[in-house]
Amino acid sequence: ALVVRHRMISSRKWARAVAILKEFEEKCGTPILKLRQVADAMDVEMHAGLASEGGSKLNMLISFVDNLPTGDEEGLYYALDLGGTNFRVLRVHLGGKDNGVIGQEFEEVSIPPHLMTGSSDALFDFIAAALAKFVGSEPEGFHPPPGRQRELGFTFSFPVRQTSIASGTLIKWTKGFNIEDAVGEDVVGELTKSLEKIGLDMRVAALVNDTIGTLAGGRFYNQDVIAAVILGTGTNAAYVERAHAIPKWHGLIPKSGDMVINMEWGNFRSSHLPLTEYDQALDAESLNPGEQIFEKLISGMYLGEIVRRALLRMAEEADFFGDTVPPKLKVPFILRTPDMSAMHHDTTSDLRVVGNKLKDILEISNTSLKMRKIVVELCDIVATRGARLAAAGILGILKKIGRDTVKVGEKQNSVIALDGGLFEHYTKFRVCLESTLKELLGDEAAETIVIEHANDGSGIGAALLAASHSQYLGVEES
Ligand code: BGC
Ligand code: MG
Repeated sequence: ALVVRHRMISSRKWARAVAILKEFEEKCGTPILKLRQVADAMDVEMHAGLASEGGSKLNMLISFVDNLPTGDEEGLYYALDLGGTNFRVLRVHLGGKDNGVIGQEFEEVSIPPHLMTGSSDALFDFIAAALAKFVGSEPEGFHPPPGRQRELGFTFSFPVRQTSIASGTLIKWTKGFNIEDAVGEDVVGELTKSLEKIGLDMRVAALVNDTIGTLAGGRFYNQDVIAAVILGTGTNAAYVERAHAIPKWHGLIPKSGDMVINMEWGNFRSSHLPLTEYDQALDAESLNPGEQIFEKLISGMYLGEIVRRALLRMAEEADFFGDTVPPKLKVPFILRTPDMSAMHHDTTSDLRVVGNKLKDILEISNTSLKMRKIVVELCDIVATRGARLAAAGILGILKKIGRDTVKVGEKQNSVIALDGGLFEHYTKFRVCLESTLKELLGDEAAETIVIEHANDGSGIGAALLAASHSQYLGVEES
């Protein structure tokens, strides 16, 4: 019989490893009381960010979207969705009243890593080329009549200070992008330059964040949608605010009375956040130290990396994986959140999935069941903290707009549109977020709050907003 020699660890070292784990667990703790403090702090910062430009770590960006889709939008529109390691180009056929989205086609293109930290021209030229190629495959029925320009909804999922619905300057990059010469530039101008260079005649009709697109896409199907949250590579939220509750807005009060706000909650920070030394080290060594602290606790880009850091500490200080520290364990970002999720969801009795992931990714073989259990526990600690903090953030929004409690004689449903790979694919994260939000709201209020998965709503949402901001609106009819 084949005898597998498991990695050995002395009981003294084992005790040390467990101590490291327990200390980490304690520091990551998110008791309800703490979550309430986080929600209250979110509410306070929302007010401050709305009061004045730079008044808070929360940018509370004005989206210039004061009218959300009604379902009447119609026509043929393009959309471009840039914000993660892939970008998508879409063609959307909106059918107007009662017809919804008649058709959509999309193509996904992965962004070569060197373009994420190169020059603005290189990135936008690449995007424009992919868009041109996609337009080249346009079906007959999609061709615009002579003299009519194609119009595009541009979902750009980074913090942008909008100057109109179709222009805005990049405040900073997040999520592994770092292209210095684009910061402070109008991203629509940058894209348009590249489109002109290759001779593609297309007008950006709307520039939107992915949260805004998701909110618009969600509203198209359900008029009760009042907020959108993205839990993916990065994290963020947008919601419908009353324009008169935005002191820093000096424009006209729109007819609807509403203005959609892109919170950029990823940059939220509070003394109540359960930050550990691992989080501090991750932040210090990141592309954007001191920035996006909430995002670094919650989003998909970072969860696996936090687990790696905790495991590395156990390897270094408790010889958790034997006398030597496995070299791969020292490689930043080698443990991706989808792999962490796979380990966390391992239901085999011998935690085979965990064993295989450790072997395939970190080149650590022959781990014992006891060790694998610890790895699963680590995943659970990190995912639980992130999910509970996201729930607290949502409670903060509901508090801000007075929907965290049920008013007498009023039973108003509030739907929050959620999207992003973390929410979609990391089941334990999603379940924990949902149950924590229920717990925070209490039974009565929980019944009025609905979390809805808005599958890829941001692309459709951008097309819808392009439609409602088309330069041809009202032209045909008159
Ligand atoms: C960006 C946001 C975006 C979020 C989700 C964050 O890193 O700052 O603009 O909405 O990621 O994609
Ligand atoms: Mg999706």
